[in-house]
Amino acid sequence: MTEEESVQSAFDELMSVLRPGTTEENRQLIVRAFEFAKEAHKGTIRRSGEPYILHPIAVARIAAKEIGLGTKSVIAALLHDVVEDTDYTVEDIANLYGPKIASLVDGLTKIGEVMGADTSRQAESFRKMLLTLADDVRVILIKIADRLHNMRTLASMSLHKQVKIAGETLYIYAPLANRLGLHAIKTELEDLSLKYEHPDEYQVIHEKITTYSREYSDLLERFVGPIRENLDANGYVYTMTARTKSVYSVWMKMQKQNVTIDGIYDLLAVRIVFDPKPEQPEKWQCWNIYSLITDLYRPKPERIRDWISTPKANGYEALHLTVMGPAGQWFEVQIRSKRMDEIAERGLAAHWKYKGEGAGGSQELDRWLDGVKEALANQESGALEFLDEFKLNLFDKEIRVFTPKGHMKTLPKESSVLDFAYEIHTEIGNTCIGGKVNHKLVPMSHRLKSGDQVEVLTSDKQTPQKEWLEWVVTAKAKSHIQDVFRKDYKEALREGIEIFEGIVRELKLPPNSEPLRKVLEHFRWTNKDDLYAALGRKNLSREEVIRELKKRQENKFMKFWTLRFLWNDNKDTKKGKGERPPADEAEAEAAGAEIVVAPCCNPIPGDDVVGISMGGKVTVHKRKCPEAIRLMSSYGDKIVPVEWVKEQVISFPATLRMSGIDRVGMVSDVTTVISKENGVNMRTVHFETKAGVWEGSVQVYVRNTGDLNRLMENIRALPGVREVVRLETADS
Ligand code: MN
Repeated sequence: MTEEESVQSAFDELMSVLRPGTTEENRQLIVRAFEFAKEAHKGTIRRSGEPYILHPIAVARIAAKEIGLGTKSVIAALLHDVVEDTDYTVEDIANLYGPKIASLVDGLTKIGEVMGADTSRQAESFRKMLLTLADDVRVILIKIADRLHNMRTLASMSLHKQVKIAGETLYIYAPLANRLGLHAIKTELEDLSLKYEHPDEYQVIHEKITTYSREYSDLLERFVGPIRENLDANGYVYTMTARTKSVYSVWMKMQKQNVTIDGIYDLLAVRIVFDPKPEQPEKWQCWNIYSLITDLYRPKPERIRDWISTPKANGYEALHLTVMGPAGQWFEVQIRSKRMDEIAERGLAAHWKYKGEGAGGSQELDRWLDGVKEALANQESGALEFLDEFKLNLFDKEIRVFTPKGHMKTLPKESSVLDFAYEIHTEIGNTCIGGKVNHKLVPMSHRLKSGDQVEVLTSDKQTPQKEWLEWVVTAKAKSHIQDVFRKDYKEALREGIEIFEGIVRELKLPPNSEPLRKVLEHFRWTNKDDLYAALGRKNLSREEVIRELKKRQENKFMKFWTLRFLWNDNKDTKKGKGERPPADEAEAEAAGAEIVVAPCCNPIPGDDVVGISMGGKVTVHKRKCPEAIRLMSSYGDKIVPVEWVKEQVISFPATLRMSGIDRVGMVSDVTTVISKENGVNMRTVHFETKAGVWEGSVQVYVRNTGDLNRLMENIRALPGVREVVRLETADS
């Protein structure tokens, strides 16, 4: 097949999956958009070597087939990279296809202009996309389709781009897809992310699941046979499919429960999707099927999930139960009507299709969308905080609580009485003084549980306090509280900048971003404005900042291992290949930079790591580190590949004997000092306490006596330490 033919056949396939009932006129519009995009991207190829136009076609196909979107979305998907990658502008699109499609394409175009080093282009682009949500949720749906196709074709990207894109997907796109009810896409995004982030673990789990379902296929037949008979006898029209848990969900479970894959017993599930009989309500029929199954098998009482009476916030409706199969094996059974199934698999688009048909799930989803729009409308904060707060609203763990009159409210897990108050009304939140939960008096910081009945107590005298921000988790509550302080904040910000500049002048520091970076890093702030504001409000003292700036830069580096940049592309990173010159801007910037280990996750040799280059320094995180995943999604263009290598340093064993007055945290203080010391490696530690006096001996490896003496000095400096001596019989 020639290139031209393969493009045409991909497009023909797209045309064959358009929504049924697409008019001839609309079909012509789509053909026109395709011709236009093909011309615009002419001569451009993707990394995989394919003509570029295949990507927009694939995105349009996902939008039409897997999400169920209509003509305008298909056209926007075909055009989604035209403005970004070619000379055409949004105005050109508006002239050709009208304002609606132009605004969709605009929402899909990443931010073009170059911004300062502090701003994350990705976070800004994402914020822009989300703001478009207020106008049209289709932008996000197409963006998800775009991301899905990029993930499906990720293999052709370089190793560190893979890690970057996978991290971003896991951080924001998969939860977003989940929140919008796109279950099938969410699962695929998660599995693909895992495949690139932890390829070995992915492989092991994937193989295990495959073997498992093969081994159990006989058992499964024995299990479903009687269910089929029962359903048939009762005149149900249905499909029954066997499913295994996704690789990612198994991996998550292993991480959370700290078990091996053999410890996960509910790998297999059976899904029943039935055509509802017209004369009975769907809900009734679900429970009837439930009863037909439990006539055969014993259910596990605590594993019944009724998402029919109260659908999930993403609109999901189904009845789940876990029963014991013929050989004592647990099986999960999911019961859904056809309508419920379509909403579960295709989310929003299906949800709108069934709107007004009394689907309980659609109200939940509408409420969530309204909530997001409201939170977005109130946002003035920076793109990064925006992303974090938005992310909070994506948590799929949620609780359902009730007003005194019995109205249900859905809130994220960990929500407090104060979140609930703001959920009801801004004024109720602003004047909240506490609450009654199940008729018991509680403070407003009280965390709610599912099923709680909550009454908010208010007072005219009350006004929002800064500490309230620590008690709320919803973006809505946060943004309302911050609104109150915004004026005050601007003032504090101005004062803080003055104070900081004063310090820099006083200490005669270079007038560049270096001092600021140092302080931000020490206090673990990501945003300089927060630092200034804290200074301005005296939450952070001038003295603390000065102390930090005077301190010598500590190097918490691992001793006999070291990190080095891994410029080699793709899989051929095995030993023997020399370092290649950096390929892009971030790498070039990082080439001469200092490498430090991130304090949040403290990777050790052997961990899968990733480097993030910022402000002339490369911070190395574990790939699993949530902070790293967050940073990767926001500063994806700053990712540099690093790996652990063994460094040959000659070292000598030495033993230190120490004693002092015992106090809380003594041992950890000593070990912290040792681990921070450059060129020192801890071998063994032994501590004993008798009658308030402690004694310890520590064996270390050092490079020289200089290192050892400095270490002893630093231990002596700890409060409670009376004596530190070196034993001459080192290797005892
Ligand atoms: Mn694209």
